[in-house]
Amino acid sequence: MAIVEPAGSGGSGRRRLRLRNPATLEPLDEFEVETEEDVRAAVERARKAQPEWAALKISERGRILCRAIPHLIDRQEELVDAIVRETGKPKPEALAEVMGACDALQFYAKRAPEFLSDRTLAMHLLRNKKLRIAYRPLGVVGIITPWNFPFMLAFNPTVQALVAGNAVVLKPSEVTPFSGLLVREVLRSARIPDDLFQVVLGDGTTGAALVEAGVQKICFTGSVRTGRRVGEACGRNLVPFTLELGGKDPMIVCADADLERAANGAVYGAFSNSGQVCVSTERVYVVDSVADEFTRKVVEKTAALRQGDGGEFEIGPMIWPAQLEIVERHVEEAKARGAKVLTGGRRNPSFSGLFYEPTVLVDVDHEMAVMREETFGPVLPIMRVRDEEEALRLANDTRYGLNANVWTRDRRKGERLARAVQSGSAVINDCMLTYGATESPFGGVKESGIGQVNGETGLRSFCHAQSIIVDRFGAKSEFLWYPYSAKKLAWLRRAMRWVWGTPLGRWLS
Ligand code: NAD
Repeated sequence: MAIVEPAGSGGSGRRRLRLRNPATLEPLDEFEVETEEDVRAAVERARKAQPEWAALKISERGRILCRAIPHLIDRQEELVDAIVRETGKPKPEALAEVMGACDALQFYAKRAPEFLSDRTLAMHLLRNKKLRIAYRPLGVVGIITPWNFPFMLAFNPTVQALVAGNAVVLKPSEVTPFSGLLVREVLRSARIPDDLFQVVLGDGTTGAALVEAGVQKICFTGSVRTGRRVGEACGRNLVPFTLELGGKDPMIVCADADLERAANGAVYGAFSNSGQVCVSTERVYVVDSVADEFTRKVVEKTAALRQGDGGEFEIGPMIWPAQLEIVERHVEEAKARGAKVLTGGRRNPSFSGLFYEPTVLVDVDHEMAVMREETFGPVLPIMRVRDEEEALRLANDTRYGLNANVWTRDRRKGERLARAVQSGSAVINDCMLTYGATESPFGGVKESGIGQVNGETGLRSFCHAQSIIVDRFGAKSEFLWYPYSAKKLAWLRRAMRWVWGTPLGRWLS
């Protein structure tokens, strides 16, 4: 059963898509797929609206954006219900998306004036000059987002791009378009001009059109496969881009870990949002001496999780049928190669929707897809290892590098292991967390992405750092300018020897 299915074409001639609720499979709304011309027109309108916004002081932009916070607080129930309708996720997880939006607004509004204010630097050699760095907005930013946190992953980069002085055109996932429209509703409550922030609805064709529509940056969140295409198109058009892509995050459990906390963390890290988090814990390496106890605890806690489509529950459905098929393929292939299912391991027959039981696997190895490819579902494979060094070697035996978590009572060792994991970020004695820690730069290495969002680094990535060098004394000419002469050449040779070849020169430069 498709969650997004064709629904003919409307009076305008545009294709229409129909959505179903992933938990109940009941039909939801229909929407039109916006065309290349629609997207170009949206970018053009945004381009016209941007200069006036960019001319405001940074603090004023932040103040205007923060007018949306009361709306988020007062309308939280409606926002949560709208997110749950499209995703089936438990209400606390939908509310976390709305809380994340409040935090993004407040955090960047408060700190952007400092993060983006001009910096003046003394020049280390050219003492008669002054360097100023000005963080200039880029223009129109295209933001393309996935379905797993459909509100937060659209709202957060939008706030960063806007506070930095850009206009934004957002293309949310076709699986969760109405959560994308919520971003517009919330920003309208702040009286952000309609043309400054626009949403274009549609599938991959609309996303591809946005990349080609003459924007000054693409901020893409999604799969490695699509990210590669977006990167290629941006390269062709010389458009800067960030790619926030998939992961296969490892968890390393040392012999001295607090096993109760580690087991709770493993279950939460693997199964929250039904495992559909880019920084989900996707594989565990536990040291042999504590493997039995750790695994027993994890299985007990996993078996106690409740699946549901209403009321109180921890685990909702998968959101996208194609992802459910990947989950089934990974588990079946692992079983065929000798893995053992300790709990779960099948679709939940009590529901008509896309529910897969939270699953714990053991006796897994690195030949299995479940240890090598992103599963993005409620599956936790546990592998026992001889020691921490073997855990580290296996953790790094992957083409991904988004996030990682390490569990030990020895903080020094924890840091050593965290630094040695090849990942964009790492967490010690906790899991996921990094994206929600607003001050932390977030982005992957290897095939998990290019560039970063969030924090000071992420905010600055929505600007161009323009260097402005000012001559301080106004001399009529400079030593390096014309005319050249043998005397000038000899002087330069002496200077070279002195500046980089003597202790005093090195100290002064
Ligand atoms: P996806 O790549 O299929 O789609 C993402 C978005 O790209 C959608 O809006 C889609 O319509 C659009 N798109 C599709 N083809 C396009 C094209 N040719 N040009 C431009 N846009 C196009 O990803 P998904 O299935 O929606 O999301 C799941 C993936 O997202 C997982 O791999 C997950 O790990 C990743 N993800 C990463 C992060 C992160 O921050 N690193 C966060 C959440 C999800």
